[in-house]
Amino acid sequence: MQSLIEDYKAFLDGGKTERRCVMEVLEAAEKAGYKDISKTKTLKAGSKVYYQKMGKSVILFNIGKDRFDDGMNILGAHIDSPRLDAKQNPVYEKDGLVYLNTHYYGGIKKYQWVTIPLSLCGVVVKRDGTVVEVCVGDEPDDPVFCISDILIHCAGEQMKKIASEFIEGEKLDVIIGSGEHENEFRRESKKSKARKDALKDGGEDCEDSKEARNQVKKNVLSILSEKYGFSEADLQSAEIEVVPAGRARYMGFDKSLILAYGQDDRSCAFASLRAMLDSKASGRTLCCILTDKEEIGSYGATGMDSHLLDNAVAEVVARLPESLAGNGELSVRRALANSFMLSSDVNAAFDPLNDNLYDRQNSSFLGGGLVFNKYTGSRGKSGASDANPEYIAQIRSVLDKADVRYQFAELAKVDVGGGGTIAHYAAAFGMQVIDAGVAVLSMHAPWEITSAFDIAEAYKGYKAFLTLR
Ligand code: MN
Ligand code: MN
Repeated sequence: MQSLIEDYKAFLDGGKTERRCVMEVLEAAEKAGYKDISKTKTLKAGSKVYYQKMGKSVILFNIGKDRFDDGMNILGAHIDSPRLDAKQNPVYEKDGLVYLNTHYYGGIKKYQWVTIPLSLCGVVVKRDGTVVEVCVGDEPDDPVFCISDILIHCAGEQMKKIASEFIEGEKLDVIIGSGEHENEFRRESKKSKARKDALKDGGEDCEDSKEARNQVKKNVLSILSEKYGFSEADLQSAEIEVVPAGRARYMGFDKSLILAYGQDDRSCAFASLRAMLDSKASGRTLCCILTDKEEIGSYGATGMDSHLLDNAVAEVVARLPESLAGNGELSVRRALANSFMLSSDVNAAFDPLNDNLYDRQNSSFLGGGLVFNKYTGSRGKSGASDANPEYIAQIRSVLDKADVRYQFAELAKVDVGGGGTIAHYAAAFGMQVIDAGVAVLSMHAPWEITSAFDIAEAYKGYKAFLTLR
């Protein structure tokens, strides 16, 4: 288990954005013998291929001996996490400080993101198509970035506000540089000297130009241009994500817990990927989906509310021999409709300090093993994909045989709240699907808490699931 958890921590540290996570996944997959499906002409039983979309989503397939139309065993997790994204025209200077203007991504408690060290991670694409990778804040010699907050001495008005208005979204701007400050008198005397000099030389009177006022911003941009070769205008075609700086850590004297950013849902992504890479398809084809955009509704070409999965499956069908799959479109539909899936997503861990929010008997506990949510949704199961008991019984049977610890839970009390996952997008294809993942304490906070034991049980559980017939 120790080495699995070390690998898990490294996976989190190396993949704080979906793009970097996909790079990590592809590296591990290629090492395990997976090949790019677009460069593969035919597939047969035993073939291992991946299908990736825009560098932000990836689907792995390990072809089994059973007919493909009879369905796959699918593990599906998401690899995007709540964070702040740089706006399209992000850099500005105000009173000697340079800021990166942001728009938050996913559900966050905004006040949790101020006064903590932050990293900037993403890509800037220049007009000639060059992709420049920027990732600053996580190496020991890197500077970090930060959003400031009002000092407590002057926070009287702020402290009276409700927490959702405590820090406004528009004020989540990250300090990325500063300059020496000149007060009015010093600036005036400098100006009058310059004016005197100009007039002495027979020149025109000069005024404080916008140019001069933006010296600090200019300096920051020139550092960026020198180091990375892009200009301010290039930031219009960029994708810069602001994420917590620092590494995944063991937590507690007994090191039983993991404190890290992005464990929703990279804990399940990691366990799914490892289970996939460590398994061999004998009967049914195995599949592992690692998708983007779940935190903002799964929209877009890289999210599950798209043709990502059926397009990938169609590419597989087109490469299979007649002995494994029949007629194209019908095979795609049948393969999907006959599939079994675990929507590998995290659940809220029972919080002893706020136990009033939970129905104890229907909650998931840190250290309780893999968590199943028969249904998610909120307030009357709204938005839920409700799993079938026949299917759950099949899963219980393989997990018990493999001696996996698991628990069945809801997120919280009925009227307290709820959430969604990718389960219903998969269910729309007609397949059997249930949510199964890791319990997380302070989910969506910059630093989330999981149990190392649960990560290991999730891995074990996902591996057992892949053997389902
Ligand atoms: Mn999630
Ligand atoms: Mn989430």
